[in-house]
Parts: sequence; C-alpha cells; structure tokens
Amino acid sequence: MIESTDGAETLSADIAVVGGGLAGLATAINLADRGQSVLCLEPRTWPRPAVGESLEFSAPRLLATLGIDVEAGEPKGYLFPKTSVQINSTDESFDVWPPAWFAKPPIWCSRLAFHSDRIELDQQILGLAVELGVRILPQRVISVEHRNDEITGLTTDRGARITAKWYVDATGHETRLFGRTMNLDRTELGRPGIAYWARFDEPPLGHSTNLYMPRPDADQLAWIWEIPLNPSQTSVGVVLPSVEAATCRTRGELPRDIFCHHIEAVPSLRRLALGAADVPISSTAFTPYRHRRCNGPNWLLVGDAAAMVDPLTSNGVTAALRHADQGARLITESLERRPFRRCRAWTFDATCPATVATLDEAIDAFLYRPGIRQPLGLRPAVMLYAATGVVTNSVYARLNPITLPRAVAVATFLAACRVWIRAASAALPHLATFRRRRIGRRRVGG
Ligand SMILES: Cc1cc2nc3c(=O)[nH]c(=O)nc-3n(C[C@H](O)[C@H](O)[C@H](O)COP(=O)(O)OP(=O)(O)OC[C@H]3O[C@@H](n4cnc5c(N)ncnc54)[C@H](O)[C@@H]3O)c2cc1C
Repeated sequence: MIESTDGAETLSADIAVVGGGLAGLATAINLADRGQSVLCLEPRTWPRPAVGESLEFSAPRLLATLGIDVEAGEPKGYLFPKTSVQINSTDESFDVWPPAWFAKPPIWCSRLAFHSDRIELDQQILGLAVELGVRILPQRVISVEHRNDEITGLTTDRGARITAKWYVDATGHETRLFGRTMNLDRTELGRPGIAYWARFDEPPLGHSTNLYMPRPDADQLAWIWEIPLNPSQTSVGVVLPSVEAATCRTRGELPRDIFCHHIEAVPSLRRLALGAADVPISSTAFTPYRHRRCNGPNWLLVGDAAAMVDPLTSNGVTAALRHADQGARLITESLERRPFRRCRAWTFDATCPATVATLDEAIDAFLYRPGIRQPLGLRPAVMLYAATGVVTNSVYARLNPITLPRAVAVATFLAACRVWIRAASAALPHLATFRRRRIGRRRVGG
C-alpha cells in the first residue's frame, strides 16, 4: 500500500525500512512474510531509471526464495538468459564461464544465470511487497535520532516522525544514512570510480555479458559493459577510475562526451554510439567499502548501505538479497526474544558484508591493481578473480550460514580466501618475473 500523509504526524511500525531499492524492498518482503508490520520510506517513484545488470549464479535461487517467478522472467521481460561472460581487449577475446565440473561436488556452482532489466524486476518486487502488506511512505528521511547506540526515531522531509522497534538502513552507497549519521567505522576496499551508462533501443547481439577492457596494460583499469536487457534493448556503461574522469572533465567534457568517446573507441559498440546523442545518460561515483559493524541493538544496515561490492564483480544483487534474508532472520529472532541474539548479530556481520569485502579485495588485487595484470596478462588476472569469486559464492550458497556453526564455517572460509588473495597477489608477480628471466636466459644460452 502506498501511503499518503500531509506531514507532521507520527507513524509507527514494527520495522521501519529506509530506502525502497532492491535491498530495502527484499528486507521488507522477508519481514512482512514473517508476520511483521513494515513501513518502507522511499521518496522516488516507480518505474524509475535503473542500471542494466548481469547477475551472479546464486541470484536466480535467491530471487525465487523471495517469491519472484524466475521461469516467467524471460517471457515477462524482467530476466534475460545469460550464457557467458566475454572479455574483450585490444588483442584478445575470451570467455569466462565455469566449466561443467564446477557444477559437481565439491564446488556445486549453479550454471544458470540471467541478466536483469531492473526497471521491470523492481516492479515485480514492489508488487510482492505491496501484496504482503508492506506500507510504502513516499518521503525522504532527513534525520535519525539516536541515543546510546539505539535509534529512537526518524524524521522525514515532510515533517512526519517515524517510530519503530527496529530500523533498517537500505539507502544505498550514495546516502549511507545510518553510517554517516552514527559515524560508523568504514573501510574502503578499492579505488574510487565513476560509472556512466545508458539504455539503448537496440537488440542485443546475443546472450553474453560483454566486458571491454581497451587498455589492459594501463596502471588504472577502465572498462565498458554491454548487457542484453531483453530482445530489443541493450545497456551500455563506461566505468572509469575517478582520476581519469576528472581529467576528462578538466578538458571540458560533459558526461555524454565522456560516455560517447569511450564507446566509440570500441568497434562493436560504434553502432550504439550513433544513437548516444538522444539517450539519457546516468552516472554515479562510487568507492567499494564495508562498514565494520552492520547492526546494533535495534538497527541494521543492508545492501550497498552496509557494504558496496564493485560493479565488475556482478555481485550487487546477490549481496542485497543475502543481506535481506539474513537481516530479516536477525530482526525476527530479536523481536521474538529468542536466545543467542548476539550470535545472530555476529553471524550477519561475519558472513554478509564479509563476503562483499572478500570479493572487493579479490577484484582489486587481481584485476584493478596492476601488480598481477601487468606481469601475468589480462586473461590470468581475470581467471584468478573469476575462480575466487565463483568458489566464494558457491561455498556461501552451499553452507547457507543461517546457523552459528554454518556461519563459523563461512567466516573461516572467507578468512582463508583473504589469505589466498594476499599471498597470491604478493607471490605471483615475483614468480612471473622469475619465469620470464629463466626463459630469457634459456633463449640467450640456446
Ligand atoms: C554502475 C553500477 C553497475 C552495477 N552492475 C551490477 C551488475 O551487473 N550486477 C549486479 O548484481 N549488481 C550490479 N550493481 C549493484 C546493484 O545495482 C546494487 O548493489 C543493488 O541495486 C542494491 O542496491 P540497494 O538497494 O542496496 O541500494 P539502491 O538501489 O541504491 O537503493 C537505495 C534506495 O534508497 C533510497 N534512499 C536514499 N536515501 C534515502 C533517504 N534519506 N530516505 C529514504 N530513502 C532513501 C533511494 O531513493 C533508493 O531507492 C551495479 C551498481 C552500479 C552502481
């Protein structure tokens, strides 16, 4: 139900969810499904512009658990099959797709994947929320009252006061409402970047996510995505290190100029560049990060507001849905006063945002930083990240850390993963140099 109020009144609910993006609505759905009364505050209306997304392998099952009909996704236009991820640089082009044995024990990686048209998918998710009785208040939260680590109320831009037993921050990476207001500790996990993207009324060329990396040897990696949304529309985005975007802007380039000149440089995207003068260009600045603590006595951070995963990992949707599932369990158990609440609180932080942090560390070490990419080449760097990402997500999906022992197993696995990332990124460049020298010496000798 979309509510309308004329301002200065007090509204109450069991749980107030701030932000009606994917993480907010999914958390609201999971809570309403468990019988809680939920008020979701979201100032923007639907349908609204959204980025085109390439989804990770766990996403279909997570969407189905939320109540989305995955099988109807293609005919109804909110999901589009994904059959490979193609990496294209100036001198090579290769496919990154788990081989068939990844689907078997011990990895158990599902090989079913989709792209999502988020404008359509968001409508489905909103429909589910409304059906389950989530009340949507179209207002922006402008202040958060808190005392001794507890939130006591929220105020909106129209003067309404909101009180609840629990408060959820799902305001995304740009707002990070509770994180900023409560000054929560935050660790940055990658370099700052800027993404520019547009949606074209052009049929996609196939069912692959295409990633273009025109300068694979550069110190700072820039990349471009081409994502099929449905049989007649394609999403294209340009992701630049913010220093490069700043240089473009000092030359007087506007976002549209920056977007166009980058896609024109890719031969297979020139057909789209011709129409780029007429399509709206969206942009966002981001730095991957995680909050050290993502929940308190009556508050929780979910989705990008808790931890932002780099877009190159294609893990944002998976992360938001996992946060929503685990978060709803934590809140429900706390409201029902079940024992071991502190264990559940630890479980959330040690698994959901920790998985995001591990993936961010992996993509930064293996792909963004030149340490591995320059000496070993683009393909080994991509494969190192892809293998780490697939195994991490498969372990999470397999163990599904909803109990303490499972959470301990996932947390231990993530810690081991981080040791692997650090060891590999320190050792592999030396091994590559050593190997090159040996080959050089053999050539000279022979
Ligand atoms: C460029 C880019 C490309 C991406 N590509 C992919 C991809 O290919 N695959 C993938 O899986 N993921 C991708 N992602 C990530 C994915 O889009 C997000 O992780 C996911 O949408 C989760 O978002 P969220 O709900 O946490 O935040 P958001 O979608 O940002 O939602 C936050 C909501 O909070 C609302 N809000 C903000 N402030 C307030 C306030 N004060 N009061 C009330 N409401 C407020 C906003 O209006 C918004 O609706 C990409 C992200 C970016 C930036």
